[in-house]
Amino acid sequence: MYTLGIDIGSTTSKCILLQDGEKIIGKSLFVGGMGTDSPERAMDSILKSCELSAGDVARTIITGYGRKNFQHGDGEVSELTCHALGGRFVFPELRSVIDIGGQDAKVIILSESGRMSNFVMNDKCAAGTGRFLDVMATILQMDIGDFDACAAKSSNPASISSTCTVFAESEVISQLANGVQREDLIAGICASVAARVSALARRAGVTPMVCMSGGVAKNGAVRRALEQSLDMTIEVSPLAQYFGAIGAAIYAHRQVVKETR
Ligand code: ADP
Repeated sequence: MYTLGIDIGSTTSKCILLQDGEKIIGKSLFVGGMGTDSPERAMDSILKSCELSAGDVARTIITGYGRKNFQHGDGEVSELTCHALGGRFVFPELRSVIDIGGQDAKVIILSESGRMSNFVMNDKCAAGTGRFLDVMATILQMDIGDFDACAAKSSNPASISSTCTVFAESEVISQLANGVQREDLIAGICASVAARVSALARRAGVTPMVCMSGGVAKNGAVRRALEQSLDMTIEVSPLAQYFGAIGAAIYAHRQVVKETR
């Protein structure tokens, strides 16, 4: 049985095709989230690459910020549920998920059996999210994918004192003008995101095993700063950005199994 999970975020659209609830047979990611044609493109692309048609898929479940506005699914489920399911699929011993996406950050705490026992979310302020990093990448005229390597060269991370993205933007511009090294600025920017998210994580009651999900998991500088701040190891999978979509595909499979029992 094939099930499809689609995660329509603020920044990207991700799809996962699952076979029998246990094997990932395809994935697709398109930049562009809600309000773009990326969700449809991601869905078409995954079906094409797996040589399947929509009729071969037993159920399609949608999650993410744009889940209510997508017409091609069979149902929707919250991102919290999906990130918890996706995280446990990849790391069976997982107890905490730190999800940093394009527009929000969430910390999800799981019981030993994998049930969600608590969560804390920041969806009100861009600081502490991928949006903050993207704004800074634009100012510095850099690719967000180069932040990690650049921050690794820093010996004296800059201190970013502004807690608001708009003020932090001016602060970074003036530090650049004052000759602060680019690598020190980037290390400081990543540390600032980590400081915000680690405060959320503490509030939620973060406990090992901890993993990151969402696109910012690809940013090693944020991960290392989080590890330092929380004094915990943080696991990262190459599938981190797909955890929501994986969870949605698992949820779809469980629904079908339950109904056919
Ligand atoms: P959403 O689900 O809200 O659309 P994602 O979980 O896809 O967001 O995360 C998007 C964020 O991931 C971007 O805002 C960006 O900061 C970060 N990101 C994406 N690709 C990379 C990369 N290669 N390296 C570092 N960060 C990245």
